[in-house]
Amino acid sequence: MEKVASGQRSRTCRACGKKFDCPVKGNDATRHHCADCVALPADVRKILERLNFRVVQLENQLRRLQEKPVSLPGS
Ligand SMILES: [Zn+2]
Repeated sequence: MEKVASGQRSRTCRACGKKFDCPVKGNDATRHHCADCVALPADVRKILERLNFRVVQLENQLRRLQEKPVSLPGS
């Protein structure tokens, strides 16, 4: 395990999927967004969140397919 200061947690940005630590001094990152995305206009961030959500879903689907290849019916 990595050493983590008390109260500091590794988080994943909702908008871009980047891993970041929060809270960090001198960093504007919030619980859900890294410092880069916090600086974005809210409506842009919303679109990024939507796209990132789909990427996460697709990644999960892909992982599931790789772990458990779909058995073709009748084969
Ligand atoms: Zn981000």
